[in-house]
Amino acid sequence: MPAPPTTPQAALRPPEVRRERAFRRIYPMRVLGMGLGGLAIGAVLFEQRAPWPLWAWMLLSCFAWPHLAFALARGARDPHSAERRNLLVDSAIAGVAVPLMHFCLLPSAILATVTTFDKLSTGMRRLWLQSLPFLFGGALLGSLVLRPRPLLESSLLVVAFSLPLLIVHTLGTGLASYHLLRTIARQNHLLEQMRRTDAQTGLMSREHLLEHAQAALRGYARDAWPACLLMIDIDHFKSINDQHGHGAGDEAIAAVAQAIRGCIRAADVAGRYGGDEFLALCLGAPPQEVQGIAQRILEAVSGLRPGPAQAPLSCSIGIAALGPGITDLRAWLGAVDQALYRAKAQGRNRVARAEPA
Ligand code: GH3
Ligand code: MG
Repeated sequence: MPAPPTTPQAALRPPEVRRERAFRRIYPMRVLGMGLGGLAIGAVLFEQRAPWPLWAWMLLSCFAWPHLAFALARGARDPHSAERRNLLVDSAIAGVAVPLMHFCLLPSAILATVTTFDKLSTGMRRLWLQSLPFLFGGALLGSLVLRPRPLLESSLLVVAFSLPLLIVHTLGTGLASYHLLRTIARQNHLLEQMRRTDAQTGLMSREHLLEHAQAALRGYARDAWPACLLMIDIDHFKSINDQHGHGAGDEAIAAVAQAIRGCIRAADVAGRYGGDEFLALCLGAPPQEVQGIAQRILEAVSGLRPGPAQAPLSCSIGIAALGPGITDLRAWLGAVDQALYRAKAQGRNRVARAEPA
């Protein structure tokens, strides 16, 4: 019963490390699974009064093989490939056990199912398919060598000794699936957070901010709910990079992001549009209030002296309110971009509003 990675840390390890460690995870599961399989086989052998060589085979393959498999994988130059081979040997052993148990239906079906299920749950590509020839090959070889008389029925003793494997395996794999699903849910949540956030500034990502802008457009179309976009661009940012290096540029971007966050209202959202450009979305605010927010951002940015470079900063801001001429996101972004262009053209460090359509 190979277990999947159960913690986010384990799942985030590099794939090579997870592959290398797979045999360590599989080892205790194999000891348990093969041991319980040995119990079922032993019950049939006991009822059949089987000769000692069959007992010896059962003891070796069910109780000694798991430890040998571990040693082989640990000592191998490529533990992952060695473990893959070990898993195929597991199937061959299960195959041989079927004629050994005179094809006794219940334990044979449980062993064959469990061993194939285990191949599926490793997640190793096509392993379960590759294991089938080993399972059937083992059964054929065992049949040819032992020539057993089929005895399909199971006594109560055989049923009782077969059930632990079925119960423990079912619960064990259920638990492993549960942990796997929980891990996937946590990772999906983490991925969604990463998608929504600009890693460098902690503001919203462009994609997520534009989702908010789309929602604002729908709100305006439905209820004429007002909303304004502010596009904020650092003035002559390239010269900071050129004069003080990219590290100083990064610090300036982070400082401006913080300043924007500090100036918008709780109902507003801000995000990084790209490079040294930011967007803020003010929802439900009248135009004078948005103008005030933009002025606050201008002043906050002019007061910044980020990092050891202490370079003075300023920014230009374009504002575009939703109105009759703005029917989609493209038009809205176009309007705010034009307003920003005018603020730059008029000498920078200022705010310009988009002309009503
Ligand atoms: P303007 O006043 O017209 O806005 O000029 P500008 O120099 O600010 O604008 P321009 O678009 O010419 O330069 C922006 C530069 O920002 C170009 C790019 O190399 C740099 N840049 C983009 N993203 C980053 C970043 O994450 N870190 C740093 N350090 N630089 C960045
Ligand atoms: Mg710029």
